Amino acid sequence: MAIPQRQLFIGGEWRAPALGRRLPVVNPATEAPIGEIPAGTAEDVDAAVAAARAALRRNRGRDWARAPGAVRAKYLRAIAAKIIERKSELARLESLDCGKPLDESAWDMDDVAGCFEYFADLAEALDKRQNAPVSLPLENFKCYLRKEPIGVVGLITPWNYPLLMATWKVAPALAAGCTAVLKPSELASVTCLELADVCKEVGLPSGVLNIVTGLGPEAGAPLSSHPDINKVAFTGSYETGRKIMAAAAPMVKPVSLELGGKSPIVVFDDVDIEKAVEWTLFGCFWTNGQICSATSRLILHNYRFLLLTVRALQRNIAKEFLERMVAWARNIKVSDPLEEGCRLGPVVSEGQYEKIKKFVSTAKSQGATILTGGVRPKHLEKGFYIEPAIITDVDTSMQIWREEVFGPVLCVIEFSSEDEAIELVNDTHYGLAGAVLSGDRERCQRLTEEIDAGIIWVNCSQPCFCQAPWGGNKRSGFGRELGEGGIDNYLSVKQVTEYASDEPWGWYKSPSKL
Ligand code: NAD
Repeated sequence: MAIPQRQLFIGGEWRAPALGRRLPVVNPATEAPIGEIPAGTAEDVDAAVAAARAALRRNRGRDWARAPGAVRAKYLRAIAAKIIERKSELARLESLDCGKPLDESAWDMDDVAGCFEYFADLAEALDKRQNAPVSLPLENFKCYLRKEPIGVVGLITPWNYPLLMATWKVAPALAAGCTAVLKPSELASVTCLELADVCKEVGLPSGVLNIVTGLGPEAGAPLSSHPDINKVAFTGSYETGRKIMAAAAPMVKPVSLELGGKSPIVVFDDVDIEKAVEWTLFGCFWTNGQICSATSRLILHNYRFLLLTVRALQRNIAKEFLERMVAWARNIKVSDPLEEGCRLGPVVSEGQYEKIKKFVSTAKSQGATILTGGVRPKHLEKGFYIEPAIITDVDTSMQIWREEVFGPVLCVIEFSSEDEAIELVNDTHYGLAGAVLSGDRERCQRLTEEIDAGIIWVNCSQPCFCQAPWGGNKRSGFGRELGEGGIDNYLSVKQVTEYASDEPWGWYKSPSKL
């Protein structure tokens, strides 16, 4: 299946990039080129920002920015309906472009539509939140609050959930009344360009959403430093997040950053082993292991460090747990993402493939044991495939424990006391997510409180709902997307204070009384 040949989407029209350049699209399952995307540059970003600004101001904002939320909600619902109508085609394109198993891409498309629907509801609810009164201590003043769109926003997104990550920003931004320029990842932009087509089909007012594909330094950097952008919302790596924050600083431009992670999953000795094994693997190997919130550090209960007499009284699950994990991991179907039942496809690019293999070889050279995986599967000669890897004999100084791999690689450290588990859990610069698996609810509650992260899963890992806020602590970024507050990321609050008395203010002496 070839991918559609698209141009940049600026001011409601397809437009060839100013410098006429294009980037190849490579199918990670076959390593074959399957098409091209436009390579936008600063000139295109300028045009897209100008189109977004014009859309914001059109008819003094009455058409979009100052229109009732209910008007914008209609467009968001129309987009959601089109996504569902085109679901199987979009899911196929997503899998071809980034290697995600087809079932997961289809799931993503449902989530994309659900997210547009959710923010359509919040756009309508915004109308009811307008002009909320503020109670003041003086009777001669009245005060109320307006929530207004922040303006033109730059949205920069990664490749692991190409259309879904874009939607997490586009839907709330448009619901709020902002206009936007989206810069998707150069490694997977195909479905975002199809979103442009959807916007054309539903008649979204021109310039409300503009999409400029291209390389990070050539298209992303000019967007993040653009003087006529009012906010930058970014999802991607910690390294790029720092650059974006620095680029926005001279103009005191607000940014929100959703960055990487190295999240823990703690498994206690009182779990049902089979259920816990499956969640542990899902937590790290879903989306081919390329999940920002992957619980890629398994912290596993093992009493082997305790005295023999104490040990004899405990249920020690570690050995069996590791054996069952290996058995389950080897049972995961690694195949072309379009093949029925695929549960792990190729990673997105050759660069990522080489990087992940290097992580595994470095772990080995530092003394860790590769229990299973970390190599190309024998039955797949082409494509960026890596068998899911489980790594033991890890210590906290190793790279594999400290750095985000962004691939199907799980590392394991064992603990014998809850205090020790907490130490290990928070032994990271990141703080996106964490999971605890245990039959003891009080213990789960204690860990929930003590894990320093923005998202905690109890007896599961990874489920994500657009109704709940998403985001991290520490070097995983700041701000929260999604949830009821998700729309507030794109709103600014205006207080309106009115003098409501017939009496003169009376602070200065009136000259007429002299
Ligand atoms: P990346 O930082 O390499 O790229 C992200 C985006 O930034 C891309 O569109 C890229 O073109 C652009 N970019 C690159 N250099 C830029 C620059 N100098 N200025 C402006 N834009 C620039 O990240 P990636 O490899 O696409 O994605 C993987 C990373 O994203 C991982 O670290 C992962 O954890 C993180 N991520 C986080 C979340 C979250 O919700 N916290 C979700 C998904 C991915």
